[in-house]
Amino acid sequence: MLSQDFELMKPWCALQPYQDMTRPLTNYFISTSHNTYLFNSQVMGDSNREAYNRVLRAGCRAVELDCYDGENGQPIVKHAYTLIVQKRLGDLFVYLQNVPFREYEYAKANYVCYHSPNVAENHFGRAVRDEPACVVQQTAKTLCRLYPSGIRQDSSNPDPILPWNFGVQMVALNFQKYDKIMALCHGKFSDNGGCGYVLKPNYLIDASRAKFNPFDHQTKPSDFSENVFEQPQTLIITIMSAQFLPRSSSKANDVPDPYVEVSTHGIPCDQQAQRTCVVHNNGLNPIWKETFRFHIDFPQICLVLFTVYDHDVLSKNDRLAYFCLPMKTMQTGFRHMRLRSKDNGLTDSTLFVHVEIEGYEEEDDCATRALSIKKFDPAKYDSIIKSHQCEKNYDKSSGTMESAAILKMFKRSVSKYGVYYTKYVGDGDSKTFPVLSKIVPYPGKVIEKIEDLNHFSKRMKRGLETIKREHGRKKLSDGKTIGGKNRLSGRNIIRLQMTFASTIRKCKHDLNLLFERSWAIFWHKYSTNNDPHHDYCSIDWCGYLKSVRDGTSYDHTSHAMPRPVLDAIKPVFESLCSRESLARVVNASSQNANESFHSLVWLMSPKHKASSGTTFEIACCLTIIIFNEGYFGIGDVFNAMCCYQGHYTDQAMIHFDISRLHTESKENNRQKRKETGHVLLKNNGKEENSGIIDDNDQTNDDDDDGDPTDKATSEDHDETSDSDEQITDNDHRTSSDDESLDDDDYGYYNSKDKRRWVEEE
Ligand SMILES: [Zn+2]
Ligand SMILES: [Zn+2]
Repeated sequence: MLSQDFELMKPWCALQPYQDMTRPLTNYFISTSHNTYLFNSQVMGDSNREAYNRVLRAGCRAVELDCYDGENGQPIVKHAYTLIVQKRLGDLFVYLQNVPFREYEYAKANYVCYHSPNVAENHFGRAVRDEPACVVQQTAKTLCRLYPSGIRQDSSNPDPILPWNFGVQMVALNFQKYDKIMALCHGKFSDNGGCGYVLKPNYLIDASRAKFNPFDHQTKPSDFSENVFEQPQTLIITIMSAQFLPRSSSKANDVPDPYVEVSTHGIPCDQQAQRTCVVHNNGLNPIWKETFRFHIDFPQICLVLFTVYDHDVLSKNDRLAYFCLPMKTMQTGFRHMRLRSKDNGLTDSTLFVHVEIEGYEEEDDCATRALSIKKFDPAKYDSIIKSHQCEKNYDKSSGTMESAAILKMFKRSVSKYGVYYTKYVGDGDSKTFPVLSKIVPYPGKVIEKIEDLNHFSKRMKRGLETIKREHGRKKLSDGKTIGGKNRLSGRNIIRLQMTFASTIRKCKHDLNLLFERSWAIFWHKYSTNNDPHHDYCSIDWCGYLKSVRDGTSYDHTSHAMPRPVLDAIKPVFESLCSRESLARVVNASSQNANESFHSLVWLMSPKHKASSGTTFEIACCLTIIIFNEGYFGIGDVFNAMCCYQGHYTDQAMIHFDISRLHTESKENNRQKRKETGHVLLKNNGKEENSGIIDDNDQTNDDDDDGDPTDKATSEDHDETSDSDEQITDNDHRTSSDDESLDDDDYGYYNSKDKRRWVEEE
């Protein structure tokens, strides 16, 4: 449990520098000390070169030397107007050169001569109050050093969080003071291997584009420009227990009464603190098991500080130990941290926690990942880095990938093909179209959105399923539940959806007709012999209208759905089949061609398996050929590659094409049969071409003797077979990738699909 693998901080962040170390110095936060020559208080004390040694070892990369002219033209270091013993500058330099610092190579490699403005704490306070945005722009261009105001005679430290938020690279802190501020400083610079340089988030580097102002984010939720690449996250921390806590230095013979405070330090809206209750008289193994949630809008710049206090009713609560780290370096799961003493020394005390991060997407930087093995297997690390040709071509989260790709395709259409894409077929909930309409790819041209009717008709199914779920086993006014034979069974839900889909397909060019025919589905079912409602029906399929025309008799009882059931599902029709709602599917289209293309791609490069960019590109190219010209078109590729296309290759390709056409026609037939309800019929004895709805009504559901368990079983079975139908259906026709809420919707890629990239029969 105490091994490095279980530490809270990602080992590859803690063990060695992993960030890009070749940027201008202005792009980094730099660990900086103030009054470096001091050991203890500000005005009294020895100016000791050991002090320099200490701060440099503590990771500090910018020290302070107050130089004056001394005897014989030699510079000396002293603190002006104070009682500090003067040192010859030469003494310090000699010392600096002799100490072999671990990170010296980085420090040396990055050494550039900079002129930096030195800003006093109180002056900075005024600047950010008056012109906050300007300060961010300034620190993006100029190296800036902030030093504590002279009023702080006790070496207390200013809060560095505010200047860091504004991109100030060097916030000079009194390293000799062991306060909470220094805890934050050690936490911040524990990142990047503790080398003393930490890369700023992009919005403080590319400040002119990001237009970032920390003061705009005092309260949640934050609304930031898209050039601020932040992913808000929720940090869920459970403080489990602590082990071997130290005793308070001021009350050495008193057993501590510990409690833990978790605080977050970053942009103003992310400043939060929560604490556990107090465990009395137990410093050995106190247990809390308390969970805290922190919603963090700017994780990249946020620090998380764990502080263990000794509760004291009479005096001030004592800080016993702490641990601080950047939120981005936290690992999830059960973790422990080795607590630091107040002076940042290692202790044997540990804190055991559980961490969850919601909205968390692991950055997929191959080089970063490989770093985790650098220490244990340097040879392997080297070979990975040397041989790795990175194919990463997208930096933001995967959720924004689709819209970014579509936008790119639209933008290049003119230069590439000389055309404007003016129509976009998409589903209603897609996040893509809002992006297209917000960022106009063609100035002055409007892109028309065309609804995908498959997605739209699925709302019928979802709406009905919701009604059914909400009713559960509740009895309707006729004393029966909503489901069951000839009621809202799983099959009938599918049938209603299919009928709705085919109605849209047939009437999509005429809103009035579409409205009437959609409602006909409902009213036709609602009709009884005493109270017929066939005003909206079409004589093409309505048995009642046919019998009126032919003067024959017609009996509703065999197929009408019970009115209590229809009353219960009427809200679904009211919301879906209003004119406003149906107006969206007027002239609707479908994404079937896309789905067909996709299913070929995923067949060769399965979605659930990682494949390299090269493999994926080959799969796409082959798909384009097969989709447009059939497998035979691949023959040309063989010709180009081998200058020869053999007889058997031809035969194989012809075979593939025939089998593909065969499969497709089978699929089409199956689809057609299903749309007309035939495939679900068990006793389909009558005319082959009778209408959709009446046809459904002839379905003979399994015999139901009224036994509730029996009913439940048959219904369960019912639903299983339905969802199977849906899966195969989705595989070829409709995308529900963005609707993963439905368990039975697998999208066009179906993980249950056992087909392999072999099309032998
Ligand atoms: Zn890579
Ligand atoms: Zn009718």
